[in-house]
Amino acid sequence: MKAEIISVGTELLLGEITDTNTPFIARQLAMLGIDLYYTSIVGDNCERLLDALRQAWQRSDLIITTGGLGPTQDDITREVIAESLGETIAIDPGLKQYITDFFARRGLEMPENNIKQAAIIPSATAIMNPLGTAPGWWVEKDGHIIAALPGPPGEILPMWEKEVFPRLEKRSDGIILSRTIKIWGLSEAKVDELAAPFLSVPNPTVATYAKTDGIHLRITAKAPDKRTAGKMLAERESDRRAVLGDYIWGVDEETLENVVGQSLVSQGLTLAVAESFTGGLLAYTLVMAPESSSFFKGGIIITADDIKTAWGLKPELSSGRVGAETAAKMASLVRARLEADIGIGIELYTEPDGGTNIGRVFVAIDTGQGGQSLVQNYSGRPRQLVRRAVQHALFDLRNLLTSR
Ligand code: AMP
Ligand code: MG
Repeated sequence: MKAEIISVGTELLLGEITDTNTPFIARQLAMLGIDLYYTSIVGDNCERLLDALRQAWQRSDLIITTGGLGPTQDDITREVIAESLGETIAIDPGLKQYITDFFARRGLEMPENNIKQAAIIPSATAIMNPLGTAPGWWVEKDGHIIAALPGPPGEILPMWEKEVFPRLEKRSDGIILSRTIKIWGLSEAKVDELAAPFLSVPNPTVATYAKTDGIHLRITAKAPDKRTAGKMLAERESDRRAVLGDYIWGVDEETLENVVGQSLVSQGLTLAVAESFTGGLLAYTLVMAPESSSFFKGGIIITADDIKTAWGLKPELSSGRVGAETAAKMASLVRARLEADIGIGIELYTEPDGGTNIGRVFVAIDTGQGGQSLVQNYSGRPRQLVRRAVQHALFDLRNLLTSR
């Protein structure tokens, strides 16, 4: 099956919003083993969308559109698909009821304009949209499929998972599964070296990527069915774990803050943080972790010299030793003030070096049984440095928690 994606929306052509639907769908198609040959963006213009659809019909078996299913005048995707297929559009009473109910549940009356979202053509069935008023269309005709989805990425997600993916999975002759192993403490070159025997193997493939939270090793397996692909993945994962074991902190969607949060909760420990030029990013990251209210006591951000001095901290991180001492003091201070089991102090010292900054990150962790202080040098733009520093602190804490 040859696939093609068309994103509809003038705002995409103006650069006002970035097309994130296409990459999402592209990844999903790759997972399904469906070849994607073309993607395009078309404005809210009948003639040009009609052109794009006709061309797609000539060269592709599966056409996926996103956007243009809204209630307003410029939302034309339904009408243009109908025209390209030579079919007549009509209001479906069931869909009309569904949309009316959608508004009723929110205590609102359905605006006149929304009625057009209940329109459908004979060769289409509706794809229900639990998060919005715009149902999608699943069209099958003359050996072609058109899946028309709304624009908002959040609405596409459940529609894709519940209705589109399962239908496509039935038709594809293979499935692609992948697993990402997340590594901290080794360089990309080192991970590459350790993965070397598998880098040229065609199936499952192994590839490395450098990310803020470390190096990701991605394993991708293609097989006729889910079970076989799953087995291939598991085998390759376990032989990679034998080599990289100590450096692996998570897989797939796991984040360092989730891993750390789970450890703290299961060990019944609480945490508080003191920061300066990471500006609260460490605290923010922890607050966003699941169950944060049961382990995270809070954070303090201190940046002004006079406050630092008043709190017994040295404002000037003139040397590595001073940086480490300051971070250690911050860790103890916040641990005591916020009555937490563990305190983290994080200091970031940057000096300009051409276009980028050279940064030194000082992380100290105080568990009440003596502190632990770690230093790491990084370079990068200020925002990158801050993000790296935060990931670094989380990783140090993760190590401490797993070694207890
Ligand atoms: P529409 O269904 O075309 O009215 O789009 C509604 C909203 O969905 C737009 O205002 C955007 O915020 C979002 N949207 C539409 N198309 C895309 C896309 N290709 N990628 C990301 N967001 C989109
Ligand atoms: Mg639009």
